[in-house]
Amino acid sequence: MQGLAEELRRLVAEARTAQDWGAPADYIPELAKVDPEQVGVAVCLADGQEIGAGDADVPFSIQSISKVFSLAAVLGRLGDDLWRRVGREPSGTAFDSIFLLEQEQGRPRNPFINAGALVTTDALLGGREPRQALSEIMYLVRAAAEDDDIHIDKAVAESEKATASRNTSLLYYLKSHDNLRCPPEMVLGTYAHQCAIEMTCHQLARSGRMLAMIPGAPAMISSHRARRINALMMTCGQYDGSGNFAFRVGLPGKSGVGGGILLVAPGRASIAVWSPGLDGYGNSKVGTWLAERIADYTGWSVFAP
Ligand code: GLN
Repeated sequence: MQGLAEELRRLVAEARTAQDWGAPADYIPELAKVDPEQVGVAVCLADGQEIGAGDADVPFSIQSISKVFSLAAVLGRLGDDLWRRVGREPSGTAFDSIFLLEQEQGRPRNPFINAGALVTTDALLGGREPRQALSEIMYLVRAAAEDDDIHIDKAVAESEKATASRNTSLLYYLKSHDNLRCPPEMVLGTYAHQCAIEMTCHQLARSGRMLAMIPGAPAMISSHRARRINALMMTCGQYDGSGNFAFRVGLPGKSGVGGGILLVAPGRASIAVWSPGLDGYGNSKVGTWLAERIADYTGWSVFAP
């Protein structure tokens, strides 16, 4: 797809003229050090081609995008039992909000807000050592991307653990409602490490092929499971920005406060965009713009043929 490769280069050049890149997350001090004026994109197409533009080979912290992988791993382990502990509705609240947790007796609305992701990680731990749960996530990510070099940035994990008042509060709140099995510190440490997985746009796009159900990609999850995860990405993947994201981009997407977004065009492509500056919802500002322009150019949308 020569046209798309050229368009990606053109869009990245246009993105680089941005007046307002947004600010990198600063509540995790290690992330605040990242230069916001970076932008990259990679696309894996259904015919096996892979194209990219801009800073597509620069590693970044995937943060909440890891929630997609921990969800896939725990569903593989527990199946539908997870849904007794976590819901599947959009929250309309910030990613780290505690608000609905009180109203809904400690059952998080969905697995992509922090409260739901913490329960997911607790379920994946299932009484095992953090090392075991983390290696399960890493196995899935590496096998899906066909790249054993993907690793965890320990400095980012430590930085998050050291400043995790909000997630610690969520954990104790979950515990008070008997929706946490492992010790809060253990779940926090495991979660901070999964969020600190570092990937480039190329690696992330390759790992997303399992959700786009691209022929020839490693078959890590069933198409039934991919379909359900994609639905959650569409409805909950950008927190209280999910409706607007669906309106603008029209593809399932999962963001992270490292500035990455994984996008899924089912049967067509897996796309990763990255730019570290965030909007008010904690989603990449230039990354969302780029995702919208790619959707406009390709016509890919789950809402139109
Ligand atoms: N590790 C981050 C946190 O829990 C992830 C948040 C995000 O990427 N939205 O705060």
